[in-house]
Amino acid sequence: MHFPSPGLRSLTGRLYLNGAALLFAIAILAGSGLYLAQLARDATRLAGFPQLEVLAGLQELKLAAGIHRELILTAIDSADGGPGRAGERVLLRMKGIAGAISEHAAAGAPRNLSASLSGVADATGTLLASMREHAGLPAAAAVARYDAATREFQSALDAAMSTVGRGATTGAGEVLAEKVGKLGAGISAVALIAMLGLMPIGSLLVHGLTQRLRAVRGTISRLALRQQNTEVHPSGRSDELAELERAVVAMKSNSSVLQRQKSRLEQLNLWLDVALNNMTRGLSMFDAEQRLVVSNGTYQRMYELPDAMVEPGTHFADIIRYRQQMVETLNGEQLDTNGRNPEELASRIANLRTESHSTFVLRRGSVLEVSIKPLPQGGWVALHEDVTERRRDAEQISQLARRDALTGLANRFSFREALDEKAVQLPAGRSFALHCIDLDRFKEVNDTLGHPCGDEVLRAVAMRLDSAVRGGDIVGRLGGDEFAVIQVGARSQSDAAALGNRLLDRLSAPYVIQGHHVEIGATIGIALAPGDADSPDSLLKCGDMALYRAKADGRGRLHFYDCAMEGEIRERRNLEMALQKAIENNELELHYQPIMKLGTREVSGCEALIRWRHPERGLVSPAQFIPLAEETGLIIPIGKWAIETACREAVRWPNNATVAVNLSAAQFASSDLVEVARAALQDSGLAAERLELEVTESLILETSARNQKTLHSLRDLGVRIALDDFGTGYSSLSYLRSFPFDKIKIDQTFVRDISERKDCVAIVGAVAQLAASLSMSTVAEGVETGDHLTRVQAAGCTEAQGYLFSRPVPAQQIIEVMARCNMDMRVETRAA
Ligand code: C2E
Ligand code: CA
Ligand code: CA
Repeated sequence: MHFPSPGLRSLTGRLYLNGAALLFAIAILAGSGLYLAQLARDATRLAGFPQLEVLAGLQELKLAAGIHRELILTAIDSADGGPGRAGERVLLRMKGIAGAISEHAAAGAPRNLSASLSGVADATGTLLASMREHAGLPAAAAVARYDAATREFQSALDAAMSTVGRGATTGAGEVLAEKVGKLGAGISAVALIAMLGLMPIGSLLVHGLTQRLRAVRGTISRLALRQQNTEVHPSGRSDELAELERAVVAMKSNSSVLQRQKSRLEQLNLWLDVALNNMTRGLSMFDAEQRLVVSNGTYQRMYELPDAMVEPGTHFADIIRYRQQMVETLNGEQLDTNGRNPEELASRIANLRTESHSTFVLRRGSVLEVSIKPLPQGGWVALHEDVTERRRDAEQISQLARRDALTGLANRFSFREALDEKAVQLPAGRSFALHCIDLDRFKEVNDTLGHPCGDEVLRAVAMRLDSAVRGGDIVGRLGGDEFAVIQVGARSQSDAAALGNRLLDRLSAPYVIQGHHVEIGATIGIALAPGDADSPDSLLKCGDMALYRAKADGRGRLHFYDCAMEGEIRERRNLEMALQKAIENNELELHYQPIMKLGTREVSGCEALIRWRHPERGLVSPAQFIPLAEETGLIIPIGKWAIETACREAVRWPNNATVAVNLSAAQFASSDLVEVARAALQDSGLAAERLELEVTESLILETSARNQKTLHSLRDLGVRIALDDFGTGYSSLSYLRSFPFDKIKIDQTFVRDISERKDCVAIVGAVAQLAASLSMSTVAEGVETGDHLTRVQAAGCTEAQGYLFSRPVPAQQIIEVMARCNMDMRVETRAA
């Protein structure tokens, strides 16, 4: 704040000015006094000086007269003329004085004084002459004369002195009284003038000052009472008071700033308090003396500290001592309540130079993470975080990351980790077997009974696997219906086969899921470590190959890896690629096999059976490539091609012979099957009732609503539906009621053994009877001999198909074959 220095019109200046005015007045007064004194002296001189001079002369004369008399008396007594002569000189002086006095006759000087003095002089002369004459002794008469003359002179002097003294006093007094009176009046007048002139100025000045001082005082007291709206108006002058006023203005502004800062600080404090106490982390801050500066509620709650322990100033060692009662471990180390010295711990923390972190586990189970940061001015601030939940979550997350959510088994990731771990232990002689497990017909369960049911099955499978293995073995779900087991300690194929077969048995045992009876199977590929491979990647590949091979061999079995597989698998891959090309290169063809009506002994129709005319391999059977086509999805275009080709071919056939086309379950998954059939019929012009579609039990098993709908839509086209290979799968007669099939094809396995096995006769007979009761026709497949034919006919089958009549033949031969079959049957019948 800047204060201007007082200028010319400063208050001091004005006070000096006022003082100067007063001095001036006093000077005037003194001057007047001096003047009046002069007047008085003049008056005195004028009125009283001659008398006083006369009086003084008289006094002097009296004195000289005394001296003279003494001198003369001395001369007499000593009879010496010396003193007499001195007396004469005194007498001479006296004559001079008397002469001077006599000049002031107007002033009352006595006229007889000179005459008296002459008398004294004469008497003195006489006396002295007498002494000289008489040798120093005066005549008595001369002495007496002298005595009388001096007495006379003395009394004349006294009388004169009394007269002159009285007159002098009276005259001077009057003059003085008059002059002094004038002086008094003059001084009074001057004083009055001074008073009248200076007092108002002084009082005005003082009044003004008082007013301003009062204003300043008021402002200051209001400011002291923090009345910030107090108005301060500096007078705009340049004196010390104005300076004071400006200082007050400055003070007010400073005080406002301070007030603002104070309220901001208070607000900040409040916020800080709110922030501190709403922190999820506990906070504690200690000073260089290891005493608590500040802490929050979270901190207090975390350690269950009593209020007294969180009072600022509490020593850290005291808090530690209290806290130790509830701490179980510090950084994993068991904390013995009495073992650790709190003072030592406190000073260790106080001496930290860098940030440090520690973890406490409390007796109640909470886990606290504490980070301590030293402060530059000494002391430290510590943040305490309850990480119990977070740790638990992290553990759960890591569990989740490692576990398969559905089954709780190790997931692919952690199974792979376990495999890595086991592979590392191989050099130590710890061999193991890897079982790669694939569920059979699981997809069907999923499609038929829905995913929730499928999930239940997977859970049940997981439990069965888990219960089938030994303690150290590891079971994992690699995805979908793929599982795997690490069989620890397996040294040979027989060790592995023991578990593998046990797993197959357990998994293929029936399940009851949500009230449904579910039957699935499993296929297992086994690789042995270190025999087959020792790296996890290679082992998994070997296991996969063995599984692939087991599947190719017809599922429901286990297969061990052998090195020849690699060639086979390569071969299969090649086949896959070749099949892809086969469609483009028109290498596929349909062969036809007649189906005989047993009643009329005529060909009722033919079944279309696919062949692949491979440029190098020759004719490839469907058993070799249809499963591959189903797995790769190539069955969709192949199936479409088969329907179209069969329709185009059959339309040329005589006697409205039907054509039966085999469908794979996979084709039902593609929604346009109905459209494909409709278009094929339309394009070929074949009557719908001449097209027969053969579906297998597996399709019926997974008769989802959608498959049912497709079957009905196909039926609605006028197409006939046959149930193929009946008796191979679940062989449940209830399937016959699940869809109104037109035809049941009894699998050739029953017909093959029908000559030897009575049960086969019974089964074929039962199926034929049931089908008949449901108005379905029955076809016996694989009729190779006359006996077969006789028996199936006797069992009640309405149609038959087999090598007895004809093998499947290329399209261009079928019309001829059909004619021959009709002929043969007629010949045979006639012969019979
Ligand atoms: P499938 O539907 O049961 O066809 C009958 C199979 O039995 C045919 O084998 C046929 O040649 C054979 N066979 C006929 N009579 C006899 C006999 O007396 N004795 C013996 N041992 N076998 C006989 P193929 O042609 O090898 O067909 C095998 C399977 O391939 C078929 O079984 C069928 O499921 C499937 N398949 C054939 N063509 C197609 C097709 O176009 N589409 C689909 N999805 N599958 C087809
Ligand atoms: Ca068939
Ligand atoms: Ca069949």
